[in-house]
Amino acid sequence: MGFVYQEVRLHGRQGQPWLTITLQAHQGMRARCSECRQPAPGYDRLPQRDWLFVPLWGMPTYFLYAPRRVQCPEHGVIVEHIPWSQGKRALTTAMMGFLARWARHLSWRQTAQAFQTSWEAVYRSVEWFVQWGLAQRQLDGVEAIGVDEIHWGKGKRADNFLTVIYQIDHHCRRLLWVGRRRTQATLRRGLAALGPAVVNGLCFACSDMWRAYLKVIAAKAPQALHVLDRFHITMHLNKAVDEVRRAETGRLRGRPLADKLKHMRWKLLRRCSRIRGQAKRRLYGLLRSKLATGRAWMLKETFQDFWHYRSLSWAAAFLDVWCTRALRSRIEPMRKVARMLRTHEGLLLNWFRAKGEISAAAVEGLNNKIRVVTRRSYGFRTYHAMEIALYHTLGRLPEPESTHRFC
Ligand SMILES: [Zn+2]
Repeated sequence: MGFVYQEVRLHGRQGQPWLTITLQAHQGMRARCSECRQPAPGYDRLPQRDWLFVPLWGMPTYFLYAPRRVQCPEHGVIVEHIPWSQGKRALTTAMMGFLARWARHLSWRQTAQAFQTSWEAVYRSVEWFVQWGLAQRQLDGVEAIGVDEIHWGKGKRADNFLTVIYQIDHHCRRLLWVGRRRTQATLRRGLAALGPAVVNGLCFACSDMWRAYLKVIAAKAPQALHVLDRFHITMHLNKAVDEVRRAETGRLRGRPLADKLKHMRWKLLRRCSRIRGQAKRRLYGLLRSKLATGRAWMLKETFQDFWHYRSLSWAAAFLDVWCTRALRSRIEPMRKVARMLRTHEGLLLNWFRAKGEISAAAVEGLNNKIRVVTRRSYGFRTYHAMEIALYHTLGRLPEPESTHRFC
């Protein structure tokens, strides 16, 4: 690479030892311009600098080198190209790659502690790694995307939501884009970032009934089949059952029937087939009591059959019957869900048109992984840091190869 190791020294023999490796330019190799990488005549030499290298034998290790400046015909007097360095950073690219890889397994703070460096150094390393990956990644062959909103932080302010775009093709599931807020403008920004080639090539788009998303997808990717997915519909049904339970608990306070609803919250949100033993007996007791909560739960549970139809027309017929029942139930939260499903019937039935192409679990699975990152005690100090961490763990980004050999 045009440089040779000149001297290796061990310092501070007691307490905290560290190593320095002094480098020298190879005799007869001309320095190259850092802008165009072309060899250029030398100009002068700058004072010696140090770069943190990957730890050797557990000791912090520094490269020492006095960079030359060259007189490039095109770029004037400019510092030479240094293959282990990126601009003015104090870390070698090898060390940045090393820290970034560890930061996938440990929190950023733990990574900094383990390798005796700062949180800031880990952050900058991951940032460099991610920026490189985003610039190099391939986006062809993206056919199915899932769009979703994620809540993070405390409170329900607009800034506490993220819009995420996933690729949910069978062969590749990854985070493509993340942006702050959940407005039409956010999603427009995201699709613009992916570029027209990706957006025009989409066959399927999967999302919740969030109006902002429905509008933008219809406008920007009209050729894509828009599917309302199972995961989100189930979430709406669960929310409605929970609302009914809470309201009824309030109404029955102090009466013996109220006991039927005690400690039932999580049991009601599970699927019937997953409830066993004592819990199942209590559930049956609730159903026999004719309480609104029991009836709401039955409606939710029967809706699961919808997803198992093979024929589009049978699924449509089922949906019609189910909605009619729900609308007549006199349970307002369930009626609200039924009205919503009726309004979006076409998009809902697209699930069957896309059968086999869209996995019900893809969006849910990626969402769960995102929650792990946003909640893990990374100690993100800024929104930007969290965004970087999400791309780092879920983006399946290509990695700078020059940094591989030290890990
Ligand atoms: Zn140049």
